[in-house]
Amino acid sequence: MKRLFKISLMPLIIFFIFIVSSCDRNDKKEYIGIISAMDNEIEILVNETEVERIDEIGGIDYIIGKLANKNVVIAKAGIGKIRSSSGITSMINNYNISKVLFTGVAGGILDSEKILDVVVATKLVEHDYGRIENSGFIWTKGDPGISKSEGDYYECDSKLVNLAYEVAQEVVGENHTFKGVIATGDQFVANEEYVKKLEEDFDAYACEMEGASIAVVCTNYDIPFVVIRTLSDKADGNAHESYEEFSDEAAINSSLIIIKMLSSL
Ligand code: SAH
Repeated sequence: MKRLFKISLMPLIIFFIFIVSSCDRNDKKEYIGIISAMDNEIEILVNETEVERIDEIGGIDYIIGKLANKNVVIAKAGIGKIRSSSGITSMINNYNISKVLFTGVAGGILDSEKILDVVVATKLVEHDYGRIENSGFIWTKGDPGISKSEGDYYECDSKLVNLAYEVAQEVVGENHTFKGVIATGDQFVANEEYVKKLEEDFDAYACEMEGASIAVVCTNYDIPFVVIRTLSDKADGNAHESYEEFSDEAAINSSLIIIKMLSSL
């Protein structure tokens, strides 16, 4: 009799566990996903967030809460294309993400750009994807035939780009705001010759190490996204020193733009 009682309760217990666990991560609530590579790039965002809970998934903390009255999931996914792809994919698969905002710092490419200026990506490209032949490195488009993107670049959502550009102008001033191509690769660029190449080959305004990953994944999942970067350096011979000096301040500029954007989303 006792055994029968236990057996008959089993489906009920399993159902209860299922309900409790699915309430947590796979809730239907919509979130704006905010993602970065480094701690300093989300620090003020997290400080301003009314945190509901933190989920650790695959070694990344996903911070769930309310920022500027919006439901947000914030994550620092780590530096480079592998970590950022993994982080954004987990975010999309575990939460109901309506749009993605990448916030961070980058190396500037154009002569007219200054450190702490903002570059809003209109589209992104992997500058280090290709093949090595006897003549050297030959660039090719990543994953031909697999990705949904047309052409060589991954386009950001035009509404998010326009909003980010408008808000950036309010935060850092018109003369300090740019929009254009951002080139992504798994290298910290500190070489003037390579910077010129990024400008000539890709028409790039800035270089960094994660944007194209976010672009590829969000494009394939049909999630609108934008990448917002403030220049910590000019990717030249002085890039390391400049990055050390300005990375924190640059990270704050991008975060302030994100907070201001949220109230219009
Ligand atoms: N802390 C590391 C540097 C981080 S890598 C060190 O001490 O070496 C630089 C980070 O900032 C990356 O997340 C990248 O997206 C961005 N970044 C800033 N300037 C860059 C540059 N010149 N080239 C490539 N990425 C840059």
